[in-house]
Amino acid sequence: MTKNRRIAVIGAGLGGAAAGALLQQAGYDTRVYEQAPAFSRLGAGIHLGPNVMKVMRRIGIEDKLNAMGSHPTHWFSRDGRSGEYLSRIPLGDFAREEYGAAYITVHRGDLHELMVSTLDQERLYFDKRLVNVDDSGDKVIMTFADGTTDEADLVIGADGVNSCIREKLLGPEAPIYSGWVAHRAIISAEKLKAYDLDFEACVKWWSEDRHMMVYFVTGDEKEYYYVTGVPEPEWKHGTSFVDSSREEMRKAFEGYHPTVQALIDCTETVTKWPLLERNPLPLWHDNRLVLLGDACHPMKPHMAQGAAMAIEDAAMLVRCLDEVGADRYQDAFELYRTNRFERASRVQKVSHDNTWLRQDEDPAWVFGYDVYEVPLRQLQHT
Ligand code: FAD
Repeated sequence: MTKNRRIAVIGAGLGGAAAGALLQQAGYDTRVYEQAPAFSRLGAGIHLGPNVMKVMRRIGIEDKLNAMGSHPTHWFSRDGRSGEYLSRIPLGDFAREEYGAAYITVHRGDLHELMVSTLDQERLYFDKRLVNVDDSGDKVIMTFADGTTDEADLVIGADGVNSCIREKLLGPEAPIYSGWVAHRAIISAEKLKAYDLDFEACVKWWSEDRHMMVYFVTGDEKEYYYVTGVPEPEWKHGTSFVDSSREEMRKAFEGYHPTVQALIDCTETVTKWPLLERNPLPLWHDNRLVLLGDACHPMKPHMAQGAAMAIEDAAMLVRCLDEVGADRYQDAFELYRTNRFERASRVQKVSHDNTWLRQDEDPAWVFGYDVYEVPLRQLQHT
């Protein structure tokens, strides 16, 4: 098999878009299939740590992201009620010097649009929901919900928490509802000017069982964003999110600091999302199929590293295909798993525990990681 044989990426989320772009740039004949008819600018933000920005540099969009994003000088953790500082983690210039790239926060829709624009648009297919894969011959046959089929030599499942490829490898199993929800809202910074309060560029407000993470999602600091973690014993809605309300937010954050109350007062629309997880999977690949991102290690978002892990996966997968050669795809896939499993599982665990940066700690193992420089752990052949 040479680089001109076909690789299919299922899902054009953040992990799939990264995989598609990196494979195409490396010269692999790669097609990306996305179930959605189009993408819209959903109201959400995302952190991009230096570990991800190094992959963005390789894709060629680091400068654009640096121009687009907010550059917090610190990640602050504060007590939700008293406002006391629990930690001050230096970012800004420190991150650039110490970890080799910037730490930014951006609008998720802006990031996604930019990443998708780096794909070969002729090889990006919307409205293609994969419903079956047949990996029994010398090609994989993919069947889509619209009744069409296509074939590929290798198929990458970047199809998120309810992955069809994961189901093919391991059988049907719903993700675990963590018992926590996340509220998400974008607030116009203009409204906040009415308050004599300091709205910091990146701050997490904590109490025993809940928190609110707050940051700007644009470089001009016009859009401020919060995302919460709040316990809710059951998720009965059967959808990926529902509308929430100011009243619900007030109740959830009763007694919290005036800065948090101001954010709730300024909220126009707020949505509520169930936080889903899986335990580390026993299998990441089989024959011509391989998983990445939320398809194989979905996690609570409390380290702000879920998409980061998906994007690092994509970069490591391409590195391993280059290293071993796509002809030996099973070795390449195993090398990829060997070099990703421990890190992804550790991030899953810390995210689950929701302890990240609550106290002063050294985040270098996450932010300092360079997927292109880290020595490859080699396969143990018997
Ligand atoms: P997804 O983003 O879910 O993409 C999967 C794609 O596959 C989708 O486009 C979907 O439509 C498509 N698809 C699914 N099934 C099929 C099919 N059968 N056929 C074709 N296409 C299909 N991460 C961070 O790094 N930083 C953060 O700050 C952060 N904040 C978060 C806040 C919240 C509230 C949540 C819930 C998550 C957060 N995350 C964050 C985590 C992050 O969103 C996910 O880990 C990340 O989106 C995973 O990327 P992915 O590409 O693996 O999956």
